[in-house]
This record gives sequence, C-alpha cells and structure tokens, in this order.
Amino acid sequence: MTVGRFAPSPSGRIHLGNILCCLLAWLSARQKGGRVVLRIEDLDTARCPMRYAEQMIKDLLWLGLDWDEGPEISGPDEPYFQSQRTSLYQTALDRLEAQGLIYPCFCTRAELHAASAPHREDGQTIYAGTCRSLTPAQRAEQARLRSPAPRLQVPDAEFSFIDGHMGYYAENLMRDCGDFLLRRSDGMFAYQLAVVIDDAAMGVTEVVRGADLLSSTPRQLYLYQLLGLTPPEFYHFPLLLSSDGRRLSKRDADAGLDSLQGRVTAEELLGKLAQLAGFHPSGEPAPAAELLEEFSWERVPREDIRLPENLFT
Ligand code: GLU
Repeated sequence: MTVGRFAPSPSGRIHLGNILCCLLAWLSARQKGGRVVLRIEDLDTARCPMRYAEQMIKDLLWLGLDWDEGPEISGPDEPYFQSQRTSLYQTALDRLEAQGLIYPCFCTRAELHAASAPHREDGQTIYAGTCRSLTPAQRAEQARLRSPAPRLQVPDAEFSFIDGHMGYYAENLMRDCGDFLLRRSDGMFAYQLAVVIDDAAMGVTEVVRGADLLSSTPRQLYLYQLLGLTPPEFYHFPLLLSSDGRRLSKRDADAGLDSLQGRVTAEELLGKLAQLAGFHPSGEPAPAAELLEEFSWERVPREDIRLPENLFT
C-alpha cells in the first residue's frame, strides 16, 4: 500500500510552492490508491508557532487536499507534530552515539561560515571536520566554554538513488557534504534526523518534495542505512519561481494564500497550479480529485517553473 505524506513547516501562511507540493504528494499517492499522512514539521518552535499550524490545517482543508492520518483525525503514529516527537529523535541519536559515529562539535556559526570554508553548489558549507579529531582534554576544555552540538561522521562513500522524477542522483558524503549535525547546540533536532525517523515510523513509502531537498537525500539515505530502516521512494519536483526568477518566499505576498484566498476559489487555484506543473493544459478550475486522471509524473517538467506575472488577472 502506497503511503504518501504532506510534511509542511508552518513558519508562515502557506504559499503557491507549498500548495504545489501538497497537491503533487496527494495526487501521486491517491492515484495509486494510497493513503496520505499529514505531519507538521515544527521542530523550530520559535518560527513555527501553533497558530500557523492551525491555519495550515484549515488551508489544506479549504484546498480539498485531505489526509487519512494526522492532526484533527489522529491515527496509529501520533503525535503528528514533530515538536512532540523529540524523544524518538533522542533514542535514534543515542543509538548512533553507541555506534561511535557521533562527536561533539563546538564550532560557532561564524567559524562554520568563514570565507575559507569550502562551499557546495547550493551555497551550504561543507564541514571541514574541525572537531572530529579533538582530544578528550580539548573536548573537556571546549565544553566549559559552550555547549556542543552532536555531529555525525560520514564515510568517504557515494550515496545514490533513482529519483522517481529527477532520475539518478549521487553524492559522495565526505567530499560533497561533510559530517553533519543531528541536533543544534540549543537542543533543536536537525531536520535530516527527524524526517528519517518520522517517515520510517509512519510507514511512508513515497516522499514528494521540492528539488531544493534533492541534495539532502543522500544524507537521509545514510541515516536509513545506519538505523536499519527502509527508505521510501523519492520524487523531487521543480521549484516555483516568482515572475522575476527568484525562489518564492514569504516576501512574495502575491503568491501567499493570504492574498489569494479572497480573490480565487480553491478549484481555480489548483487548476492553474496543475497547468503550470504541466499536466492540466486547459488551466480550467478543477477540484483535486478531477486532476487525478490527468496527472502523471512524466508530464511534470524537470526545470524550475516561473510564475507568470498575473496568474489570476
Ligand atoms: N518540512 C519541509 C518543508 O516544509 C519538507 C521536508 C520534506 O518534505 O522532507 O520544506
């Protein structure tokens, strides 16, 4: 049985990019007769207050994108808020620690982002391994000054997979990424760890998400392997860009449901998004269920999608 999921981070009102993500996840799972889980990724509780999550739930219902398991409905894998699942992440972290794969990192933000630090293509820094070889005495001394963040050692090995939409993707974890954090020094668990634990615990068989997370997948596959869990299939879809070619953000007020909801119906919105995503040429208003017939991953482009200037005028 296919199990798909929506895993939004409610750090503001939902925008067209988030909606496209949920629409594709919903269509991909439902077309196979599958179930859908809604999980709220609110690990960053300061940026994701409960009222945003509540609004997001209302927005998804307004859009007609339903789920079988999650907030409002409950299900066998409660709770569905990551902020309430931290003991599961701690258990996984303890297991990795017992395997001798974790070391405490004391690097500050400034040190990590120093101009000399090697950078990936996507702008993230590649961790140089500074704290990997600290002696116990050095660790004890550093620990007096600041609290450490647990970092996972990665091997000099390639992790590859066939993305259901983007095709073959591979990274050498040591060369392209470096040892990565599983929890911040303030205690907040890392997305990479939480997403793996939750997708596995919730029996998710397919993950649909934006191409910005393609390069997170090799790290996640490494975690699946270390924890003896079975990875899902992945489908990464192209990003929606604003009409001037930037990545959509909270600043693009026009693309937020805040400004759209009073002007367009859910069917109009889904119809236009489906047209932009290549599988609904007419762009006519349509409820999600009507798009099931036309949807196919083959019709979705692989390049970023630029929003036209006046989508709804
Ligand atoms: N919570 C993430 C986001 O909203 C999605 C994570 C995922 O799909 O793996 O960007």
